[in-house]
Amino acid sequence: MTAHRKGIGNRLLAALPPADLALLTPHFQKVSFEPDAVLVRSGDELDPVYFPHSGAIAFMLDMPDGQTVATSLMGREGALASFSVLGPSPSSVTAIARTAGTASVISAAKFRAAHAQSAAIRNVVQVHARAVLLQLQHVAACNALHRVDGRMARWLLQLHDRVPEDLLPVTQEALAQLVGVRRTTVTLTMSKLREAGAIPSERRGFVEIHRSRLERIACDCYALMQRTIDRMYCQELAAPQPADARFRQSAIAASHGAGGEFKAVSRAGR
Ligand SMILES: [Zn+2]
Repeated sequence: MTAHRKGIGNRLLAALPPADLALLTPHFQKVSFEPDAVLVRSGDELDPVYFPHSGAIAFMLDMPDGQTVATSLMGREGALASFSVLGPSPSSVTAIARTAGTASVISAAKFRAAHAQSAAIRNVVQVHARAVLLQLQHVAACNALHRVDGRMARWLLQLHDRVPEDLLPVTQEALAQLVGVRRTTVTLTMSKLREAGAIPSERRGFVEIHRSRLERIACDCYALMQRTIDRMYCQELAAPQPADARFRQSAIAASHGAGGEFKAVSRAGR
């Protein structure tokens, strides 16, 4: 079981002691987002901060020639725009929901104030920052060294870690952007994965995966990256948690994730 596989409830919030969590909770707004919702656009200020409870968010870099490529993927293990604690700054990437999800949202100013007050909040932000850096470094190495089928299998597995079923809501166009290749290359690679039994079916906008077969095709980056990040989360986020951490995590899921009304994030065209 990896640090962020399945389940509901933000991992970073779940790691906070109640007194530290209480600095944030009164300022949270619950939101839901649909696939393709743009949560942050490149050039926008990093405000507000999103703590996803479910769903998958892709960070996309737009190149001057019109191409778009994904740099990383985030789910309930992360916090979108948490780096706003470093000071106001524009986002260098566009964050797009790849699957539907929910999040607790707080203004960057309120989050900065709580961050200044709480060593536990500073700790979760640091652990998360190191996990993001590690993912970016792996993706850079992977893009330079590994074959398209291994890379595509890695992205599909990373996406699968953040959705509750084997049917992934992902179009060929989205896959082309995730992997950073042309649509024709996606079509060719998908047929290779289908022949290997790793993609039992594919219909408009949905890809069914066979996880263990896909794991055999994915490059080493997937397992290596997940193992390192899991270890980091387990050692550095689990440490300050009391024995009832499990209970608290499900309580957070109930208060911020599973129940209550969510305000929908408007779906913005690109
Ligand atoms: Zn790789």
